[in-house]
Amino acid sequence: MYKRILLKLSGEALLGEQGHGIDGKVLEAFADEIRLVHEQGVQVAIVIGGGNIFRGMKAATFGMDRVQGDYMGMLATMINSMALQDALEQKGVPTRLQSAIRMEQIAEPFIRRRAVRHLEKGRVVIFGAGTGNPYFTTDTAGSLRAIEIEADVILKGTRVDGVYDKDPEKNPDAIKFDKITGDEVLSRRLSVMDLTAFTLCRDNRTNIIVFNMGKPGNLLKVIQKEPVGTLVEW
Ligand code: UDP
Repeated sequence: MYKRILLKLSGEALLGEQGHGIDGKVLEAFADEIRLVHEQGVQVAIVIGGGNIFRGMKAATFGMDRVQGDYMGMLATMINSMALQDALEQKGVPTRLQSAIRMEQIAEPFIRRRAVRHLEKGRVVIFGAGTGNPYFTTDTAGSLRAIEIEADVILKGTRVDGVYDKDPEKNPDAIKFDKITGDEVLSRRLSVMDLTAFTLCRDNRTNIIVFNMGKPGNLLKVIQKEPVGTLVEW
């Protein structure tokens, strides 16, 4: 079983059946999944995206300054992080939220040593505000934090079952990989993460498991090393 994981969740997954914002049912389901693995004594750190609320790059297409938009995107991740924190605490899971942008009233600043200490004490740590820098993504924040806290693996919870040879949502004949090397992901130009995030994983030999976060019990299976999703290894 994995001992310390970095769970990366997309903001978009929180949309659920809704057009925008946060679907309470999805939020609760995520909290249930996380509680199950926390109960097993697994140290859980989480990075959640903000795409359900705001994306800097999209705002730039309608003329907004990219950096301004990116900071708004980082604030969006804080909204999702706070929502997830609340959902977890309501289920009795102790949490701490650390932000890459200072917001003293609502979150601790990101301090690596402190984050590790929280994990050791059994608190789920949520890292908000991405990397704190524009032009990055929350996938990159996930890779960076995973490496910093020396997580065993990055678990990328998505809407699909794993990595396919082509987009499974558009191609019904797409074939899923149970295991693939990171180099093959690169040579086949498969999308697991953006290149900045993926390169960080490559340089630090951090493995990634892409799995469907929407299936109840899946996260627990992944941490118990059951064959769920796709293992991307170096
Ligand atoms: N963002 C950023 N720096 C970071 C992380 C995020 O500028 O380190 C901004 C960026 O504008 C991005 C938005 O926050 O579009 C939301 O994050 P992301 O798109 O990664 O969320 P997801 O796709 O996972 O929902």
